[in-house]
This record gives sequence, structure tokens and C-alpha cells, in this order.
Amino acid sequence: MNQESRVVLITGGNRGIGLAMSRAFQQEGYQVFITSRSGEPVPGCIVIQADLNEADRAAQVIDQVENMAGRIDVLVANAGISKEILLVRYSDEEILDVINTNLVANIKLARRTAKSMMKARSGSIIFMGSVLGMTGAPGSTVYAASKAALIGLSRSLAREIGSRGITVNVLAPGYVQTEMTDSLPEVFKDKVIADTALGRIATPSDIAGVAVFLASAEARFITGAVIPVDGGLGMGH
Ligand code: NDP
Repeated sequence: MNQESRVVLITGGNRGIGLAMSRAFQQEGYQVFITSRSGEPVPGCIVIQADLNEADRAAQVIDQVENMAGRIDVLVANAGISKEILLVRYSDEEILDVINTNLVANIKLARRTAKSMMKARSGSIIFMGSVLGMTGAPGSTVYAASKAALIGLSRSLAREIGSRGITVNVLAPGYVQTEMTDSLPEVFKDKVIADTALGRIATPSDIAGVAVFLASAEARFITGAVIPVDGGLGMGH
């Protein structure tokens, strides 16, 4: 392991947007740690098996990264789930599943990561938000609530730890072609494409390079920002 490389942890880095980010960070020479629930190998990455909804698991994952790499420079809190359900049909269990995965686990990851980054007096934390956290959409109430909450989390944390040279930002993709969106009806996808200025749904690699940029020295004066990567779908929000 090259001790000079910068170290990134990408949660849910095994597939979808997370996998594209894993590859993009590898290309920039980072040591890339990822989490997945299966723990299956991913080329070029050090995989930590973790269900981030398990008690204390988020903090343990950061401990594991630091034990192996000696530090953490970038956290990309990417893992998330979506459930397309009208609010009146949501069970209590489903509400908690979305909020715990998309918000609570990320708060715990950020809390533990911030401690190390504050000592190092540098670092970058990137939360995976969504255009839906700003625009909302029918069927996305709880998902959108979890993503909107990441903005408040990010901006408050940015103010808490900015003086230590740590940036905290939110990426807000539009619709991206992954397993999360595979099952959406074609008619819905056609509507999204019609509403997207660039006239298509994103690929995971459309998002990945922006995460690399936010973690780079060139982005050192960007914090508390919500960066839309949505092809113009959410303009004005
Ligand atoms: P995928 O469904 O393809 O991947 C989701 C990832 O999250 C998987 O790696 C999955 O791991 C991980 N994950 C889910 N639950 C847990 C958990 N409890 N503990 C640990 N890991 C978990 O999703 P995408 O790549 O599409 O989405 C990635 C992020 O981007 C999400 O936060 C999503 O909300 C956001 N996003 C996606 C958009 C889209 O259109 N696709 C648009 C805007 C934002 P495992 O393989 O183990 O299940």
C-alpha cells in the first residue's frame, strides 16, 4: 500500500454511482476503500463489509480505514436507498429504513470522520444528495426528506469545522441510470428526459468526476455547497 496516496472511503462503492466514483478516484491515484453489504471483491478497492444501519458500524468502518491506511482524507457518504411509495402507504418500518440509511448512518459517519479530519486539519466530506431533496416528487416524500436533511447537516457541519480546513458539500444528481432507477416505468423516464435540459438520463460516470473535483485542491474554497449534477433538471432550485 502506498502511504503517500490520499485515502478515500466511498460507502456503497460496489455498484451504481459509488462504483463509478471508486474508479474515478483510483484513476487519480487514491487509495480507495469502499463498503458494501456483501463484502464481495471489487478490483482496485479495499472492501469493508458493512451494513451501515447496524449499531456502531459507521464508526467502526472509519476505525478500520484508519487502522489500514493511517488516515482518511475524503469521505463520500454515498450509500442510500429509495422507495417509491405514496406517503399514505408507507409503513413505520419503511420510513425508518429510508431515514436510517440515507440520513442517520451518514450523520454517524460524518461525526466519526470529522474527529480525525479535525486533528489532521484537512479533509473533505461529500454527501450524496439528490435533486429531489429540493424539488420533491410524488412517491418520494421520505426519500426527499432524507436528502433535504443532508443539506442542513452539511451546511451546519461546514460551519462547525471549516476553520480546520475541512470542506463539507452535497452532490445533487438528477436521475442516473443505476439499479435504483432501473425499475422506473418508461413513461416516467421519458418525462424526466423531457424535463432535463441536456435531454438524457445521467450515467454514473457523469457524477463521479464531480466528486473527484470536490475532493481536489482546486475545490478547496468550496464548502456548504449543493452542487447540482442533473443536466438542468432542477434548475432554479
Ligand atoms: P444503487 O441502488 O445502485 O446502490 C446503492 C448502494 O448503497 C449500494 O452500494 C448498496 O450496497 C448501498 N447501501 C444501501 N443500503 C445500505 C446499507 N444499509 N448499508 C450499507 N450500504 C448500503 O444506487 P445508486 O448508485 O443509484 O445511488 C447511490 C446514491 O446516489 C444514493 O444515495 C442515491 O440516493 C443517490 N442518488 C441516486 C440517483 C439515481 O438516479 N440513481 C439520483 C440522485 C441521487 P449493497 O450493494 O450492499 O446493497
